[in-house]
Amino acid sequence: MTEALLFIVSSPSGGGKTTVIKSAMARLENRGFPCHFSVSHTTRSPRPTELDGVDYHFVDRGEFESMVGRGEFLEYAEYAGSLYGTSRREVLGKMDQGIDVFLDIEVQGANQVKTAIPDVVKVFLYPPSYEELKGRLIHRGQNSPEAIRRRLMWAEREFSVAGEFDYAIINDRLDEAVETLVGICLAEHHRSDRMKPVLDGIRQDFVLRLKEDVT
Ligand code: ADP
Ligand code: 5GP
Repeated sequence: MTEALLFIVSSPSGGGKTTVIKSAMARLENRGFPCHFSVSHTTRSPRPTELDGVDYHFVDRGEFESMVGRGEFLEYAEYAGSLYGTSRREVLGKMDQGIDVFLDIEVQGANQVKTAIPDVVKVFLYPPSYEELKGRLIHRGQNSPEAIRRRLMWAEREFSVAGEFDYAIINDRLDEAVETLVGICLAEHHRSDRMKPVLDGIRQDFVLRLKEDVT
């Protein structure tokens, strides 16, 4: 209906980005908005349940740096000792096909995307509390105690720039957080400037029909 949009969802690790984005995408697809979850490249090792090409493209540092050299990343950043990057071709290719793209990325990368694509919509997911975030990271069972400690320390830095995001969602009750993200995405599609081509079409058709009808 409107042009494809690019959404960034950031939060501390364990804040619920993957879970909330994937549920929101399913609901948006049902509403007629095709969506794509961008699969990042990373130099970190896969977790036990992660699959190459599905959760991430797992690459070594040399390969990652060659990709940086070839300008293949829309953005990239170092997080907790590993490199993470978003493929420019994947994102722009999907958007050219009219498909909304969701980026699950940290805050340094979010800034780079905003510079490259100012129209991007940035959403920050807050965990409801320190205890809840720590509990979710432990319960997810995918990070060592040391990795969890590093992610919690990194969270403090991420909170300090969260105010620069367009929207904030507190991910307390999952269903409400998903509903809120869906609402934000729908509202962004319905901004009147983005709806203009569709509205112009309806108005022109209306004028034609009116002329035919009354003459
Ligand atoms: P991120 O992608 O931000 O690192 P995940 O989506 O992997 O976070 O979520 C971290 C863990 O918290 C997962 O085990 C997920 O099932 C759980 N989780 C996410 N949102 C909620 C919520 N609202 N209530 C309870 N558990 C949640
Ligand atoms: P994790 O190792 O927990 O999967 O991810 C760690 C952090 O890296 C999360 O905040 C996640 O959003 C972020 N991340 C994942 N992919 C990318 C990416 O392509 N670019 C950037 N800048 N951050 C990413």
